[in-house]
Amino acid sequence: MGSRPPVVDHGPRTGNRVALTFDADMTDGMLGNLRAGRVKSYANLRILDLLEREQVPATFFLTGKWVEQYPDLTRRIADNPRFELANHTYGHLAFTANCYDLPRVPAKGMTDDVAKTFQVITPYGGRQTRYFRFPGLCHDAAALDALAPLGLTVVDGDVVSGDPFATSWKPLVRAVLDNVRPGSIVIMHVTEANAAMTDEALPHILAGLRERGLVPAPLSEVLTA
Ligand SMILES: [Zn+2]
Repeated sequence: MGSRPPVVDHGPRTGNRVALTFDADMTDGMLGNLRAGRVKSYANLRILDLLEREQVPATFFLTGKWVEQYPDLTRRIADNPRFELANHTYGHLAFTANCYDLPRVPAKGMTDDVAKTFQVITPYGGRQTRYFRFPGLCHDAAALDALAPLGLTVVDGDVVSGDPFATSWKPLVRAVLDNVRPGSIVIMHVTEANAAMTDEALPHILAGLRERGLVPAPLSEVLTA
């Protein structure tokens, strides 16, 4: 059945690489908001535009439902040789009790949820990985055991930007630049309506990384540096 997957917060503290990671959450509630026209988009194109224009590597943790909602954008991510694709569950349900206010995936459904998400992402090709991030970073022994058969690595992160529901970009820049170090894994979101300041913060974050001599790299390269 495989052994409990490793959980990583960061790569080696040597060298100068850091991983910029972007979560693409999608819940049934978010889909409802889209369908009712309450929000415009959960896909922040300005982030993709900027990363592409500046040729910045990044790793995207995709939910299956985000991929199904945005197949063209998923293709755009997969087609970029600097971008890696990773797994963020199918519908962003919690894998533990008391994980923010997220509804919970049944214990018996945990393995299938994550396996199904790989099945949704894999056909897009590009730089596929076996990296997985739990919604809300919430995991316990039971959740890790459930994922043992899938041969994946659980990726948390050591730099939380705090971009969900941010109302100003400056605190995000400070949160990232005050905490980033060689080997860091920076957690951000590409879910526009739920993280509206990330694209405004990003140019300042990239400039601050340059000043510190830190270089964004795909997560796989940060973890093996
Ligand atoms: Zn998430």
